[in-house]
Amino acid sequence: MNDPKVGEILSRYGLDTAKSLGQNFLRDGEVLERIAAAACPAGRILEIGAGIGSLTGLLCQGAKQVTTVEIDEKLRPLLTEEVPHPNHRFIWEDILKFDFTAIEAPFTIVGNLPYYITTDILMLLFRQMGRWEKAVLMVQREVADRLLAGPGSKEYRAASVILQSFCRGETLFEVPPHCFYPPPHVHSAVMLLEPKKDRPDTEGYMKFVQACFAARRKMLAASPALLQLLHIDKNRMISTLSEAGLPQNSRAEAFTPEEFQRLYKLCTK
Ligand code: SAM
Repeated sequence: MNDPKVGEILSRYGLDTAKSLGQNFLRDGEVLERIAAAACPAGRILEIGAGIGSLTGLLCQGAKQVTTVEIDEKLRPLLTEEVPHPNHRFIWEDILKFDFTAIEAPFTIVGNLPYYITTDILMLLFRQMGRWEKAVLMVQREVADRLLAGPGSKEYRAASVILQSFCRGETLFEVPPHCFYPPPHVHSAVMLLEPKKDRPDTEGYMKFVQACFAARRKMLAASPALLQLLHIDKNRMISTLSEAGLPQNSRAEAFTPEEFQRLYKLCTK
């Protein structure tokens, strides 16, 4: 694929990018192809955010059906003309309000995400575990590093544990700012997420992990948020930790995702 002339295409339609919507559009053909190759071949794809449709067009070539959710209706005239694929439809909506049952499961999720809502989108995707079979997502490089960090690292947090409990995740490649129009101030990374077969239940587990990290510096057994969530006292928490084979004076940041899951099972049985 040639590099799309983003500035030229936008000005043909009298448009400009909107910073408030995280509109940094890919202008590097090779990066676009690598993202599409990671996602395809696929059956159904849900794309988050169309931009000028450069990725959308490639996805339509490698998938049976592509649905793109895009919030910015100003792009409608451009996209209607630039993405005329019979196996594609647009849904003009905020992805955070999107009803995922509008797409028959299972599907693959692809998106060069709007960075201002990365965490919200990830949490939303975790709530839809079981419906999607793969996700190829571009995020800020630091976010990818944090999500894939392990215990003991200062990058390790609730989102890392949640992601690694639900999915196998890896960074496929990094993308420097000059590959976008306009270039963002940060470096980016494309991540591949594949749901694990044996996963904890979604909502309860997410709340549990978030409560464990609410007081990062405190011992788990003395974390008010956690004790309150589980409706148990400190002594019961200490005995549950020892039943799980975990030291009673540990902090959340010391546990692996597998240890969190073991503890969660015992705390909620
Ligand atoms: N996929 C295109 C590309 O790679 O060039 C565009 C990526 S751009 C980083 C993010 C896209 O998400 C923009 O088109 C933006 O309008 C759209 N977007 C921003 N917030 C959104 C939201 N809440 N729901 C759906 N789309 C959104």
